[in-house]
Amino acid sequence: MIETLDSSYQSSQMIDHLFANVDVAFVVLNLNREVMLMNRHAERLTGYTQEDMVGKSARVFYEREEDFTEQGQKRYNPDAEYTKEHYVTPYITKQGRRFWGDTQGGAVKGADGKPIYFVAIVTDVTERYQSTLTLNHLHAVTSDRNLDFSERMSRILTLGCEHFELPIGILSRIDDEVYTVEYAKHPENALKGGEVFDLSNTYCFHVFQADDVQQFHHVADSRISSHPCYTAFGLEAYIGSPIFVDGVRYGTLNFSSPDPRRTFTAQDREIIRLLAQWVGHEIARMRDIDELQQAREELERVANTDSLTRLPNRRYLNCEIERHMAHFERFSEPVTIAMVDFDKFKLLNDHYGHAAGDQALIDFATITRNELRKYDLCGRWGGEEFIIVFPNTNISDASLVIERLRQQVMASPVTLDNDQIFFTISIGLSESRKGEETEALIQRADDALYRAKEKGRNCFVTSK
Ligand code: GH3
Ligand code: MG
Ligand code: MG
Repeated sequence: MIETLDSSYQSSQMIDHLFANVDVAFVVLNLNREVMLMNRHAERLTGYTQEDMVGKSARVFYEREEDFTEQGQKRYNPDAEYTKEHYVTPYITKQGRRFWGDTQGGAVKGADGKPIYFVAIVTDVTERYQSTLTLNHLHAVTSDRNLDFSERMSRILTLGCEHFELPIGILSRIDDEVYTVEYAKHPENALKGGEVFDLSNTYCFHVFQADDVQQFHHVADSRISSHPCYTAFGLEAYIGSPIFVDGVRYGTLNFSSPDPRRTFTAQDREIIRLLAQWVGHEIARMRDIDELQQAREELERVANTDSLTRLPNRRYLNCEIERHMAHFERFSEPVTIAMVDFDKFKLLNDHYGHAAGDQALIDFATITRNELRKYDLCGRWGGEEFIIVFPNTNISDASLVIERLRQQVMASPVTLDNDQIFFTISIGLSESRKGEETEALIQRADDALYRAKEKGRNCFVTSK
């Protein structure tokens, strides 16, 4: 019976009967790997009839030439040992659709121990295999630390489009009735982030209404065929899931196509739910990072700012002077600093109270903001002492600015109730010198200030 199998109608009928109700494709090949027999499920799965294929090479079943060759070496080869091992390989149907087949096969030997034909038994595991691939891919995207947020979103859209075999992918944000495209993947780039639609006209309306995954593989034949979304966009296939961020509804992740597709499976629903869940986590994480970053910047600002005058504090001044000194060493652009000290400040405090003294300091900060050039920097060094940094400025140019400032201070009394309190400042200036340390530069400005006080105050002295 086996010997006459290739020509026996009876045998083929028997195989047909044996395998008619089995969801397994069964293909018998001669030793040249040409098809002899296919059961009905093999016909359904591949799209080819036995008539199409008899006498033709099994090569057409394979998506990739190299898989055909490799399996030819391993199993469909008279010299190969029969192995029970299964393998999963991509096949392609007559209609051009890829499917993954879990396959078992090899040579069948006759009574004399010589191979007489090959047999292959194939189960379609596309769904399971595709889901596994997608999950592996998702894992790769989520664990790649080199990707920023928008790259991750873009990868997820691509991943979903591939998994569902749908060309359009959208991550949307929904606020009340407004649907905003945040990220989109579209074959003609027809959709851009920022595009806005009425939620009630979108497919996602149904997702929001159900608060769960919704899928339509052929909208024309579905319960939403008369909904405005279909009139507006005409998409035939759609699957979408709500996205929640920290438990609050955020928007949707959805994939669609102008063409209908095969029905969605329970696994497809699980996959989109998973993708949307992950997007939700990413958005939450992104928000946390943003908040953390803001907090860090605020902390940095507070750490560098004097709370009374809102000017940079001593810590910040030190860094800036250091930086300009380093720049001077490299590029020879001089930096001049001015140490400013209020005259007889103790008297002012004693006479008018501490609040008046404070107000004088605040007013001084305002004057510096108005009088100094954009790149000059005034900060509070401590008490009633300030340092002004003049980048890329020599001492004589800085003196001009300082003189103007001195006069402005003198002409700007603090107003307290009905009193006008006049106050003055003394200033010592020093300019960077090659090889000099920052502390020495500051010390020279302080020494010059001391001399200005000695000279009678309300004046400036430059360090030689
Ligand atoms: P001189 O002209 O020699 O500098 O006299 P002076 O009174 O200003 O002397 P000195 O610089 O030694 O005194 C600083 C005074 O500034 C002492 C302190 O009470 C006062 N002061 C320091 N910080 C503050 C502040 O934040 N607010 C107020 N109101 N007063 C301050
Ligand atoms: Mg002082
Ligand atoms: Mg003083």
